Amino acid sequence: MQQAGKKRFAIVGAGPMGLMAAMEILKAGHEVDVYERDDRIGGMSAAFDFDGLQIERYYHFVCKTDDPLFELMAELGISDTLKWTDTKMGFYCQGKLYKWGTPWALLSFDKLGWVDKFRYALHVMRTKSIKDWRALDKVGVTDWLKRNLGERAYDVLWERLFHLKFYEYKDKLSAAWLGTRIKRVALSRKNLLQESLGYIEGGSETLLQKMQEFILARGGRIHLSAGIDRVNAPAGKVESITVKGETIPVDGVVSTAPIQYVPRLAPDLPADFRARIQALENIPVVCVILKLKQPLSENFWMNICDAGIDIPGVIEYSNLNPGAGPAIVYAPFYMPKTHPKFGRDNAEFIEEVLGYLPRLNPAFRRDWVLASHCHRYEFAQAVCPPGYFDLLPPMQTPIAGLCMADTAYYYPEDRSICESVKVARALARTALS
Ligand SMILES: Cc1cc2nc3c(=O)[nH]c(=O)nc-3n(C[C@H](O)[C@H](O)[C@H](O)COP(=O)(O)OP(=O)(O)OC[C@H]3O[C@@H](n4cnc5c(N)ncnc54)[C@H](O)[C@@H]3O)c2cc1C
Repeated sequence: MQQAGKKRFAIVGAGPMGLMAAMEILKAGHEVDVYERDDRIGGMSAAFDFDGLQIERYYHFVCKTDDPLFELMAELGISDTLKWTDTKMGFYCQGKLYKWGTPWALLSFDKLGWVDKFRYALHVMRTKSIKDWRALDKVGVTDWLKRNLGERAYDVLWERLFHLKFYEYKDKLSAAWLGTRIKRVALSRKNLLQESLGYIEGGSETLLQKMQEFILARGGRIHLSAGIDRVNAPAGKVESITVKGETIPVDGVVSTAPIQYVPRLAPDLPADFRARIQALENIPVVCVILKLKQPLSENFWMNICDAGIDIPGVIEYSNLNPGAGPAIVYAPFYMPKTHPKFGRDNAEFIEEVLGYLPRLNPAFRRDWVLASHCHRYEFAQAVCPPGYFDLLPPMQTPIAGLCMADTAYYYPEDRSICESVKVARALARTALS
């Protein structure tokens, strides 16, 4: 029997945000059931069996500024699994691979003149010190970059990266969204000359398993392969959920699924609120992962600006986390669902990446490939246009007892597990108030 004052909450989604929201609500003394449509916990941070190696479907790195994540890891007693690596960055630009990410690399980069290089360095320095992003929220990213770097530097450094990540949305992004990304990475350094990025030993799975243990130890329940099909609120207040045809009474629902799913989940939402949600855009990712016999490069991250290569970069995860196995390379294709390539099958994406690798490293041979795989996620990257703070609907929906958030609510920050933790705390507070 339910104790007086104790409410029963259902959480939609067992990604890091759903698990964190569950932890917070359990700590407040309520009953929690987490429902996950997938067959595992983790959402975008989930791991899979890659030819005998447990590894994330998508790469994850940690930055020195990820304080909410560090607090959570301390609370779960796993701070010692956080490791730091002196990482290297590369930039494949118009047929040549350059070192990147240090003052020396910038000085020796021959595609820009001295004035452009000075403006680039100044722009990073200024962006690093921005604390209030409200003003840049209203500014378009293309204008911001061209004004600060100049047309030529924008074309060389940014134009193709934006094109390959956002296509028709590339000129419709907020400067605040890019500014926080520049700041987060720029502050993750040992010193001016050395970038330092982090990873969790055992991958994000180490964190996810500890979160799961916490939830189960406090009487919470996690239901896998159990998507919530409907939130029932006929009188404007949550009464129950429907899962696999079964109606389950609940007092509150906290959705951490992509918010674009919420209008379908909760058909009782008023039309104007549904329209606000439906106006928000997202870009899917098709991410190829390769296991290679030997390293492709010395870089963890390689940006690519080259007319003949249709991916914005490759991420050699094993150069961040040496325990990840042999050489592990991720190559993400971002594209709107309307893009003609999106309908292709996974093998074609893998083949396309393999065709690019000899350009990044002329020594690469096909027999280096030990295994390959490809994952897709439809709501991988929120498109955050200028004025996004005002476009985001409130977490508390007009239905009493139903609140929601997803990666869009990290804005102006970009997707990260650290932001999942921070936003989940705010979401739990909303649910409990
Ligand atoms: C390519 C890529 C690279 C990334 N790189 C990094 C990085 O370097 N560092 C970093 O920190 N982060 C990174 N991230 C981001 C990180 O993975 C996400 O921020 C984090 O996983 C988001 O967690 P979440 O719980 O908010 O959402 P999600 O992980 O999207 O979880 C939502 C869950 O809801 C479930 N769901 C949906 N509908 C229903 C339903 N009706 N019923 C039940 N369940 C449902 C989904 O199956 C999913 O599991 C990256 C992500 C991608 C895609």
